Amino acid sequence: MPGARCLPAAGIPGIGYDAGMGTRVRYRFDPHHPEVAAICCSDGRYIRALEEYLAARNIDGHDLMALPGGAAQLCRESASYTSVSVYTDALDFLMRSHHTAHVVLAAHADCGYYRSYFGRADRSRQEDDLRRVASSLRDRMRGLRVEAVFASPAPDDQGGGFVFEDVPLEGR
Ligand SMILES: [Zn+2]
Repeated sequence: MPGARCLPAAGIPGIGYDAGMGTRVRYRFDPHHPEVAAICCSDGRYIRALEEYLAARNIDGHDLMALPGGAAQLCRESASYTSVSVYTDALDFLMRSHHTAHVVLAAHADCGYYRSYFGRADRSRQEDDLRRVASSLRDRMRGLRVEAVFASPAPDDQGGGFVFEDVPLEGR
């Protein structure tokens, strides 16, 4: 579009918002589906921390299923029959079509979904749900590797950032 103005980002010409021509970003399309799927809560305060955690684990690219409460929506103990049915079908479709080999389940501290559904966010309940979902996934997908982590913000006087702790899963 003649006269359209592109606002450069990070000093790269052509990268950034352009009112008439679409917005271009640096990330290059990879035609290969990642082997890893991450399932996490939609809470945007944790999404970048999860991305950084996965990168620190050398997980280079992943599919993402972000739902309020994350794995809770796949658990009959913590979500409606309808939610479990719809999201389980969606996840199974994703994993089958992308040949997912490895799933990372991530829950987080003080999750608003658990507070709303149960009146409080109880870490042990969230970890039980992660174990239930891990077990169910393994039953449906032979050979699938499943891990679970619990994320908590670290206090500023302890360096800040987030801590991701492994949640032990049976039969790991
Ligand atoms: Zn949450």
